[in-house]
Amino acid sequence: MTPGPDTDLIVVGAGPAGVAAVVMACGLHLSTILVEATAVGSKLSAIGAVNNVPGAWTTGPELVAALERDITRHQHTGRLTLLTARARSVTGHPTHAELTLHDGRTLTARDIVVATGTTALTPTDTDWITTPQPIPPLPPLWRATPADLTNRTTVVLGADRPLGTWLRAHPDTPARLDVLHPPADAYKTTEVQDDPRVRLVPVTRAVVEPLAEGRVRVTAGDRSGSVYERADGVVVTNLGSAPAALEGLHRGPDGYCPPDRQHPRVHVVGDLKGARMQRISVAMGDGSRGALNAYYRDHAG
Ligand SMILES: Cc1cc2nc3c(=O)[nH]c(=O)nc-3n(C[C@H](O)[C@H](O)[C@H](O)COP(=O)(O)OP(=O)(O)OC[C@H]3O[C@@H](n4cnc5c(N)ncnc54)[C@H](O)[C@@H]3O)c2cc1C
Repeated sequence: MTPGPDTDLIVVGAGPAGVAAVVMACGLHLSTILVEATAVGSKLSAIGAVNNVPGAWTTGPELVAALERDITRHQHTGRLTLLTARARSVTGHPTHAELTLHDGRTLTARDIVVATGTTALTPTDTDWITTPQPIPPLPPLWRATPADLTNRTTVVLGADRPLGTWLRAHPDTPARLDVLHPPADAYKTTEVQDDPRVRLVPVTRAVVEPLAEGRVRVTAGDRSGSVYERADGVVVTNLGSAPAALEGLHRGPDGYCPPDRQHPRVHVVGDLKGARMQRISVAMGDGSRGALNAYYRDHAG
């Protein structure tokens, strides 16, 4: 006799979308495995101020603590297993779906919900920053704490939206942010242009080179020549994000994974599904819907 799948549902990613899927699935008594590469709510834990999530949540870490309580509660019922591992690929079959992990293990379930969100772009993902030699990883601005940036000049590569969020979340931090941005980012600078902590530097190109002890030198210019050089500051990225798509998912031209183009047993939810609607409460609704879709298909009355 052929053995059945390992579990009813696998959820990949423990952000708000993945945890909502888990809560819905466990509430329906589906046996569920949650696969998370780092930590529950790893992105939310770095969001200093939240004002648009029902439930009067005001910070990301508060919300993460609540999501962790949900996970613990369902682990205690015996319906949920939390597995710390990085998923590599997903495959749909007529009777089940299969998840392969980076360590080579394979897990099977009747359905898989993929909620891996997005990942921060790096300088090598852009067309305006050059790195002639390999450079150390540069952290994204939105993960920086006030202590990381207080009382020193920080070079911010790119003017994506988290800049305004970071400044609003830390109104009393005496930071000095030199924000190097290409013409395509100019429209995003309006909300920060009056903040005295920000110096906006429009550029068309930048070069980042490694120095000793993990430091880097940043030089940048526009059509008139060189306009910026700094070798002693902290450097962070603020270049936007890209979908953290697993191999095997169908992707659109922008790299995102439209839910309606996936195998019927593979449910894409949250930020991974498209560049728009990237919000916490939308992700939670999506996650719940992904688990319900899996449930109704196998329990249709
Ligand atoms: C700076 C900043 C501020 C924001 N502020 C707000 C706000 O105020 N209000 C709001 O509504 N939204 C805000 N957002 C957007 C919000 O964070 C996202 O919409 C939301 O987190 C998306 O949830 P998700 O579950 O789809 O993905 P994520 O929260 O990104 O979770 C994805 C999870 O999947 C895991 N993962 C990724 N790849 C793998 C893999 N291969 N294997 C296993 N696990 C994997 C990750 O570690 C992560 O835990 C903000 C975002 C940023 C960056």
